[in-house]
Amino acid sequence: MKEVRTRFAPSPTGYLHIGGLRTALYAFLYAKKNGGKFILRIEDTDRERYVPGSVEIIYSTLKDAGLVYDEGPDVGGDYGPYIQSERKNAYLEYAKQLVDNGSAYYCFCTKERLEELHNNGATKYDKHCASLSKEEVQMRLARGDSYVIRQNIPLTGSTTYTDMVFGDITVENKELEDNILIKSDGMPTYNFANVVDDHLMGINYVIRGVEYLSSTPKYNLMYDGLGWERPRYIHLQPIMRDATHKLSKRYGDASYEDFIKKGYLKEAIVNYIALLGWSSKDNTEKFSLAELVDKFDLSGVSHSPSIFDEQKMKYINSLYVKEMSEDDFHDYALKFYQNYDYLSGLDLRYLSSLLHSRVEVFTDVGRLTEFLTAFEGFDLSLFNNAKWKTDCNVAKAMLPGLVELTEKSFDNLHDALIVYGEANGYKKGQVLWIYRIALTGAQSTPGGAVEMAVLLGKDESLRRLNESLSRL
Ligand code: GLU
Repeated sequence: MKEVRTRFAPSPTGYLHIGGLRTALYAFLYAKKNGGKFILRIEDTDRERYVPGSVEIIYSTLKDAGLVYDEGPDVGGDYGPYIQSERKNAYLEYAKQLVDNGSAYYCFCTKERLEELHNNGATKYDKHCASLSKEEVQMRLARGDSYVIRQNIPLTGSTTYTDMVFGDITVENKELEDNILIKSDGMPTYNFANVVDDHLMGINYVIRGVEYLSSTPKYNLMYDGLGWERPRYIHLQPIMRDATHKLSKRYGDASYEDFIKKGYLKEAIVNYIALLGWSSKDNTEKFSLAELVDKFDLSGVSHSPSIFDEQKMKYINSLYVKEMSEDDFHDYALKFYQNYDYLSGLDLRYLSSLLHSRVEVFTDVGRLTEFLTAFEGFDLSLFNNAKWKTDCNVAKAMLPGLVELTEKSFDNLHDALIVYGEANGYKKGQVLWIYRIALTGAQSTPGGAVEMAVLLGKDESLRRLNESLSRL
């Protein structure tokens, strides 16, 4: 069997978004599952959409996510160059072959004629130049007339191919247009370049978005016209933001980098996007990249669009967060702690131990530690607790004693609080409630009274307890 060769062929138009990364992931998985090669090709012929820096983002995102490509612009390979604009000399020769055997033709139509055609209601090019005589074409070429090369689609019949996800796809030839293959500046269009490049790079499995499903018959006619073997195709349904809108950067939907910034782990991002359009036979949902390579199969690829669900992604992320060692969690969390000045001076390692079981994504650090900034002037009604029958009066009665024991027994706070309760006729829950509220001024905190005191340290704890007392 021939070696499986798949490719990811992004256009460098900005950040790598989730849909693009999903295509790359499936192409990677299919190649690796079959012991083949995964290739990166940059499709940059559309200079107007080119965004400087985006090629580097593509390289770094794929590598960071673990989708290591075997061949590509920055890693080399036997089929380079892997940047389309550096291949521009290759295309014309093949377009001319198609002209020679009648599968394409020179078109000299002016912009004005095409506009007129359009204004008169034509929905596609009318094959005007397909019938020019050989002599006329030669004469106009010799004269230096501006031209494009168009594909010559048969007017009758139909073209069929088998998509490995969607099954047989048949398109009536009359539905297809004689698209431009070579533009007047000599550059190929995407429609032509993808065929030539895929063939020359030995790509035998083309995995890409479903928007290309119905153009693929045109591409197949080009393969046939050039006497090349058609590749197999796997088209992927889009990822939706909701029932009617595609996930799209136009709507500000997030890129890989955005998710990293939001505190998602790369393993979790890859895991979640694998599930956007594929499910495993046993319905498991948590997979490492290696497990995905092992489990991925085309029978699990969905025929319908998938909906991006950030809650689900968070949940998947939380599974990975929980699996981190204390050290790894702390190291990763440090980057996020830096965003909050009020955390400086705290025992951050201790904070990490409190947050580890509570963080779903690392930006939760903000929400979970916000209470630290809300102490000054907190609402005293927080002392009211129906279950423990506490209120401001109970707090006022307790606090002098609580301050005293904090001074004397900070290192043994838990036991000291219990003893204090027993000696003064309070239930444990009452003491702990009053202590925690007086210390934090917050309804909920990522830990109990003693943990909050340890986090704040003795001095800050005393300052806060005294402050609360002074307000009662
Ligand atoms: N450059 C095309 C895109 O970004 C690639 C399509 C394909 O994979 O053939 O949509």
